Amino acid sequence: MNIRSAELKHDDYIGKYVSIKGWIHRIRKQKENTFLLIRDDRGGIMQCIIDSSKTNNLTIESSVEIFGILQKDTRAPEGGYEIKADEISIFSISKNDYPIGEYQSLDLLLDKRHLAIRTRRMIMVSKIRSSVLYFSRKWFIDNDWIEVTAPIIVKGSVEGGSTLFKIKYFDEDAYLSQSVQLYLEAMIFSLGRVWSITPSFRAEKSRTVRHLTEFLHLEAEAPWVSLEDLIKFQEELISYVIQNIVKSNKQEFEFLKRNISELEKISPPFDRITYEKAIDKLRNEELIIVDKDSSRKIEYGDDLTIDSERILTLNSSKPLFVIGYPLKIKPFYVKEEISKEGLGIAADLLAPNGFGEITSGGLREDDLQKLEKRMVLEGLQKSNYDWYLDLRRYGSVPHGGFGLGIERLMRWILNITDIKDTLPFPRTLRRIYP
Ligand code: ATP
Ligand code: MG
Repeated sequence: MNIRSAELKHDDYIGKYVSIKGWIHRIRKQKENTFLLIRDDRGGIMQCIIDSSKTNNLTIESSVEIFGILQKDTRAPEGGYEIKADEISIFSISKNDYPIGEYQSLDLLLDKRHLAIRTRRMIMVSKIRSSVLYFSRKWFIDNDWIEVTAPIIVKGSVEGGSTLFKIKYFDEDAYLSQSVQLYLEAMIFSLGRVWSITPSFRAEKSRTVRHLTEFLHLEAEAPWVSLEDLIKFQEELISYVIQNIVKSNKQEFEFLKRNISELEKISPPFDRITYEKAIDKLRNEELIIVDKDSSRKIEYGDDLTIDSERILTLNSSKPLFVIGYPLKIKPFYVKEEISKEGLGIAADLLAPNGFGEITSGGLREDDLQKLEKRMVLEGLQKSNYDWYLDLRRYGSVPHGGFGLGIERLMRWILNITDIKDTLPFPRTLRRIYP
């Protein structure tokens, strides 16, 4: 049996002989007694006091089981309980050069990530990550969406060629998927509303605090929906996830010193601005310069830069939908507004406080001719997409969807600057090991 610290720290166990399994997190030796902090396998901490004669060979990160009487002592950390121990059984004595200590360079923590994920900070982040995934899945299940899976070895790009990872697939070239959207589009014809969580790969060649080369992509696609419907789905999904994790992960947020009062206020509706208005607003900002050499200001037709996304959401506490992008800065599949040539029926969601884009979505072009024209304009090779065009040939329906980056969402929820800190083994331009 394995009773963890959180469960043991209860008055029912006071005076009882108990045990705890875990790793030696801290060790403080005094002449007679030694104070051990045991970290259990969910990052919980239990103080144990034991006769120093029994701890001679113990090192940080040794794995042990400690036996003794649970008692209350207000000086004991995290709840005021401790074990007055009389026996230690050892699973493994750790070598005494454990590289992770209390203060460490960020690079070392990434080089030794397989060990650094034992830090309590990383444990708390991983627990919240698990809850984000759990409540996302639960929202989709409760709202009658079907979970599907799609391949990640593919023949064509979804989001443009510049971030494609090419792989050798036997004798042909293939790519790692940037998004499963095209496959989800195929599945709405037989399953209606579908969704999936899949790794997406982007060969992001610049180092930023919000780009990974492999990220977890939550994507959803549905037939017969409007942009308004898609906005509502996202508002409801994100609010539901946040409302639930602030309740279920209170301790983790507390440990991470994340003020949850801001999160508790996240509920539909979110804020909205049109792309056009956003550009007008940004043109009045001194700071937004698109091209540093010519000091050109942002103008209609430019994509929103990280700086511009920050400015748009700096003083807001709610996420902001930016609605109606010019087609030329969006992928080939975005549906064109019928009444306004060149305008895409699409919306990106920006997280508050300057965290920037967390989702991107909209209606998909369902007209075969228009789609073919766009593919030619983008220089896409038709043979790689012929199957996709079949979806427009055989019973095309109006439809749309969105994609949400799990790590992007977590960055905002946890108020973490660097996206690498939101997952155990980040993949970036410079990192593929461990
Ligand atoms: P950005 O402009 O921020 O680079 P994008 O427009 O390339 O993002 P999309 O292709 O719209 O992103 O992908 C949908 C979602 O996937 C984004 O809103 C974001 O949450 C997430 N995402 C995209 N690229 C990355 C990445 N490199 N690392 C982490 N998450 C990403
Ligand atoms: Mg986008």
